[in-house]
Amino acid sequence: MTPDELTLADLPIRDDLRGRTPYGAPQIDVPVRLNTNENPYPPSPELVGDLAEEVRRGAGELNRYPDRDASALRADLADYLGHGLDASRVWAANGSNEVLQQILQAFGGYGRTALGFEPSYSMHPIITTGTSTEWIGGAREDDFSLDPAKAAAAVEEHRPDIVFLTSPNNPTGTALPLETIARVLEAAPGMVVVDEAYAEFAREGTPSALSLLPSHPRLIVTRTMSKAFAMAGTRLGYLAAHPAVIEALLLVRLPYHLSTLTQAAARVALRHRVELLGTVDALRRERDATVEWLRGQGLTVADSDANFVLFGRFPERRAVWEGLLERGVLIREVGPPEWLRVSIGTGEEMAAFRAAMEGVL
Ligand code: PMP
Repeated sequence: MTPDELTLADLPIRDDLRGRTPYGAPQIDVPVRLNTNENPYPPSPELVGDLAEEVRRGAGELNRYPDRDASALRADLADYLGHGLDASRVWAANGSNEVLQQILQAFGGYGRTALGFEPSYSMHPIITTGTSTEWIGGAREDDFSLDPAKAAAAVEEHRPDIVFLTSPNNPTGTALPLETIARVLEAAPGMVVVDEAYAEFAREGTPSALSLLPSHPRLIVTRTMSKAFAMAGTRLGYLAAHPAVIEALLLVRLPYHLSTLTQAAARVALRHRVELLGTVDALRRERDATVEWLRGQGLTVADSDANFVLFGRFPERRAVWEGLLERGVLIREVGPPEWLRVSIGTGEEMAAFRAAMEGVL
């Protein structure tokens, strides 16, 4: 065999990775991109100016490694989260995906299991199996909610080392009541991760799992600056947990994992949080209008507390996805068969989505 003929199958990769497909939301350059739950509003010129200034300052010291523990950033994140948190209870990494991977590295691994309730975020099983942890897929109700008793029963049956709860859930938009999270925490023998990537978009009065931290030392709440904070390109995710949990993560994180520039950009974004989170209300309104409009078209639409909407049901969902793409609108073919997910964009982008949908339907 020549080097040109070599394929992945010829390499001595781990047996448990053979035949797997990588995470792959298409990145296609079209006028209206509504497929990866980004915030459609770019940073303001003031934020960009402030960021450029901080980068200039940091650039003069790039011969040195960054603050390995990201202490100042973690203090800022704790201040943002409130709930009496401080830097010792907050951890940050390159996107919440890296945060989740570190959690799996510390608490999962060979011979261990992680349980999540599907459909949910596709990276949970991918990161789980990528760390040689066994994935157990639990079920949701037909309306994508979680029955607290059934969820607790699944945890008691499988006794997983890690439980994933996602609230609001991706791709369904479903938020979890605190009682459900508390029931799972009582049943779980190991760590419980509540992935709150979309927490800021939840309806008024939806409490965060952060409020359960003081009484539950095995709870980890993960967040991200990729969504409401409109900083997906920065790659900054974080979590809140008991200080002992942070100590566990220090055992597996790579030294200097968060670059000087990432730390600086995240701190600038936090200083500008009033402006950045100012887009959340508009996105929530646009979301609710999108749900209503889709239902008006006679479609089935999941209730959403996030910045995206899952709708269906299309026996040929690929044809609908392609029809929209032909009209310059990229959405996501994800979740259960027959359903599609649209991320909430600007008013103009959603008008383009509606026009394209009318064309397709
Ligand atoms: N959790 C959930 C539920 C998500 O939907 C996403 C992004 N799609 C992430 C975590 C990861 O986001 P990031 O790595 O950008 O923080």
